[in-house]
Amino acid sequence: MESIFGYMAQYDYENLYLCQDKSLDFKAVIALHDTTLGPATGGCRMWMYDTETEAIEDALRLARGMTYKYAAAGVNLGGGKAVIIGDPKRKDREPVFRLLGKFINRLGGTYITGEDVGTTLNDMEYIRMETEHVVTLPTYLGGAGDIAPMTAHGTIRAMQACCRRVYGSIRLKDKTITIQGQGAVGQNIAAQLAELGARMVICDIDPEKVEAVKEKYRLETVMPEDIYDVECDIFCPCALGGIINDDTLSRLKCKIICGCANNQLLDKRHGQLLEDKGFVYAPDYITNAGGTIFDTDRLGTGTVDLERGKVKVDRIFQNMERVFDIADRDGIATYLAADRMAEERIQQVARVKKYRDYHAIC
Ligand code: NAD
Repeated sequence: MESIFGYMAQYDYENLYLCQDKSLDFKAVIALHDTTLGPATGGCRMWMYDTETEAIEDALRLARGMTYKYAAAGVNLGGGKAVIIGDPKRKDREPVFRLLGKFINRLGGTYITGEDVGTTLNDMEYIRMETEHVVTLPTYLGGAGDIAPMTAHGTIRAMQACCRRVYGSIRLKDKTITIQGQGAVGQNIAAQLAELGARMVICDIDPEKVEAVKEKYRLETVMPEDIYDVECDIFCPCALGGIINDDTLSRLKCKIICGCANNQLLDKRHGQLLEDKGFVYAPDYITNAGGTIFDTDRLGTGTVDLERGKVKVDRIFQNMERVFDIADRDGIATYLAADRMAEERIQQVARVKKYRDYHAIC
């Protein structure tokens, strides 16, 4: 990034805040991308960046990603992100996160934070001591608690939309699905797919996780490096980013790629290559929005409601179908169609918001 203002202008960012306190060795960045749909919302990452510019760039890039995620999910929130520059294993959590809470509070609700890489629900409790503008909270503080089951549910709804496109039916029974990663979301996907009667082949670099899930649902397993070579209907990445790359593209033997892992495409060109090779690719930020949709659902109402949250997460099916409609309409790959869907919604809502509500002056 040669110029911060240049970068902000290029992608139309609204604000960038730098926060510091020397005695607490505290340095943080808060980036707000677009608040057309609602307050800028996105988690707080804690990371050791090599340079301050890297931290700023990361905050800006992640904030923009959140704008697209909420817009495409039909949620009325904008995109923002906070980044604390520091060792994520740092022990003095209370002053660090309470101070971040103070700075967030000054923004008056324009930015709402949450958990992200390097931060925990416990850290969010410290933030909550200083501001109400934090969304990821444990249930005993009025939050949604563990969101992995809803992320899994949303991913499966996206799979059903993909199946309808490829096979003309949403049925997952007897489909062969390979799942890469048996962590928080992967395990929930396996459990939910088992109920739907799917056949699964799973892997994880942690043999204990594989054994536990294998025993429970009597699934097939493979070594992590072999998962790309398994013939299947759906490949479901639930571990790392960058797993769609030049190497794996020549090995994959599935029709559909639909998983929860973030940043699955190593490079944008791999999204086009998937299209050219005839795979149906479900863009990750469409499929993995379930947890976020559920988590933020209480913002308008003040209460967590499992049924209402689930109904909203269910709509990932329609969102996925809309992505396919746009891809067909404009003759573009699905990863581009997802972006276009988000941008169109923001433009349309901006247009609606132009009409202001006037109250009688008397
Ligand atoms: P997690 O850390 O609980 O699980 C990841 C699992 O992947 C671990 O069990 C790990 O051992 C395994 N793994 C790592 N490298 C592997 C490899 N090479 N092969 C096979 N397995 C490997 O994480 P999670 O919360 O389940 O999230 C999974 C992915 O989904 C991540 O990319 C995350 O960013 C994304 N995501 C998660 C949520 C959520 O609700 N947790 C929401 C949106 C996106």
